[in-house]
Amino acid sequence: MCVKILAKEVKDSPYNVILNLPGFTVTKVSGPNPLVIHAKYYRKPKCPYCGNSKLRKKDAFFRQLKHESLGHRNTVLRFKAFKFYCKACHRYFHQQFPGILKHQRATEKLKQQIFKEPTQGASQTDLSTQGVSQTDFSIGYATSTRS
Ligand SMILES: [Zn+2]
Repeated sequence: MCVKILAKEVKDSPYNVILNLPGFTVTKVSGPNPLVIHAKYYRKPKCPYCGNSKLRKKDAFFRQLKHESLGHRNTVLRFKAFKFYCKACHRYFHQQFPGILKHQRATEKLKQQIFKEPTQGASQTDLSTQGVSQTDFSIGYATSTRS
């Protein structure tokens, strides 16, 4: 299964409700399990050091993260991220996204979902069948208790 969405529909794709992440719009979904959500980030990037938006793209790469599961299906979020050069302060930085922390393999939404659901009696094996490895679990736990 593969659904392509026309470019002009991009910013308010009906699939955005599936994704549930601010600033992202769904460009394509494929599946069935995992359900891969191809998305595009449409907000204008700003330099995290000086706030300037006069930037130059230096590098592009794909990021793939585990996202909220839908029923019994795992979802994967895939999008293009950039490395920018700030013309104002001459620094390089990797694009930041709301709901996604640096160097993480899972979105914050997925972590919230894991900790909202009752996990009593759930073994590590149960969690890994949901596509969550022990590493993701411990990173998520540390992150969510820190705040
Ligand atoms: Zn700057």
